[in-house]
Amino acid sequence: MIPIDQAPIPTTPRSTTPDPERLATSSLTDIKRVIGRVGGPSADHESPPGPTVIIVAGQHGNEPSGVHAAVRVLQSLRTAVEREPGCFRGEFIALAGNVEALRTGVRFIETDLNRLWTPGAIDETFARTERGEPVSAEQREQRELADEITDAVLRSRGPTFLLDLHTTSASSRPFLAVEDIVRVRELARAIPVTGVLGLEAMIRGILPDWFNTVGDAGLIFEAGQHDDPASIERHEAAIWLLLAEVGVIGHSAFAARLEAARSTLEPFSRGLPRLLEARARHSVSPEDGFRMRKGFENFHPVVRGDLLAGDSAGTIRAPMSGWLFMPLYQPQGEDGFFIARRASRIFMRLSKVLRPLKLHKLVHLLPGVSRSDADVDAFVVNPKVARVLAHEVFAMLGYRRYREHAGVGVFGKTAEDMHRAWYALPEELRNPRRDQSRSS
Ligand SMILES: [Zn+2]
Repeated sequence: MIPIDQAPIPTTPRSTTPDPERLATSSLTDIKRVIGRVGGPSADHESPPGPTVIIVAGQHGNEPSGVHAAVRVLQSLRTAVEREPGCFRGEFIALAGNVEALRTGVRFIETDLNRLWTPGAIDETFARTERGEPVSAEQREQRELADEITDAVLRSRGPTFLLDLHTTSASSRPFLAVEDIVRVRELARAIPVTGVLGLEAMIRGILPDWFNTVGDAGLIFEAGQHDDPASIERHEAAIWLLLAEVGVIGHSAFAARLEAARSTLEPFSRGLPRLLEARARHSVSPEDGFRMRKGFENFHPVVRGDLLAGDSAGTIRAPMSGWLFMPLYQPQGEDGFFIARRASRIFMRLSKVLRPLKLHKLVHLLPGVSRSDADVDAFVVNPKVARVLAHEVFAMLGYRRYREHAGVGVFGKTAEDMHRAWYALPEELRNPRRDQSRSS
């Protein structure tokens, strides 16, 4: 691979936009929203119709690795396309996530951009920006980013895919966060690292959650530690493999690059299941004084009861056995750690077969299960039933969000549905001070 600072900057006379990659190579202080673009209608290179791949890099401003990777891919792609125009179809566009935070090198300015992608928060951002009302730094970022993504989807001449690039504070093997939607699970096979299912049920408002409602399939790829140069190579490898998998680039024209990308990533899934499921989350607020014990890596195997962390209330132990997932080693953040467990293969196969049958239309016939009155995609259950049977059945049908208190539980397809169904329940059933949230 040519080091980016020695590579010639390709000149594209037909391009109408300045070349923002050039700025990103030296420093991110001048980074722009659109890092670069190849193909698509009205682009500098008029490519045949095909899929669209959207990269979002640096939704967290202290994670510049994805930006550098996107710049490298854009440069190589342009060179390849000039040499052999037929090796590319559709569109590739790389977007910077939190531009202001990337410029200053902080995770976020006022609030975490990658928690703002709930329908409620998006509506608020759009309503405020439309009315010209004051918005937070991240609402401004969100509006611009959402506009760019929506434009790319609207002008696409094929299916649309999104890869959201991140890095972690702790040292980590690379992995994918995979929403439990069959087409998203299938896309995840393009990138040969462990995938973690079910994060969207625990962390509200991540970008693919929204993208999977406007585009075809979106994934989060976590490449490793923030400042590790290897994270850039892994991000780059993931982008190449995705471009090839969906057919934006031809396999033969990029054979060597794809082979290198596979050997960059494949070793990291050794000794781990290919698909894990996030099962427990330890949430953190600033006043907790949360401190993770030193020495844990991402995917460190843990046994129930292992001492993991401490806070002002005492020690924090593993609530179940599995793999420790995303331990928090930075001052900002709301997720202390997760525990992940192996996703069942039978579950994966059955859910693929069962979901298209729309069996959810019959779910209310199960004992102790009724539809929510709130006119949303959610069910109210007797928690006793839920413990025995319903978690598996509901997860199989795509209802992963679950919340319960005392005598009542609610399953929803989306976090919004679950919360709306929950708050439609009589007040006495859902004392918010004593309820528990968990995920199946
Ligand atoms: Zn991140």
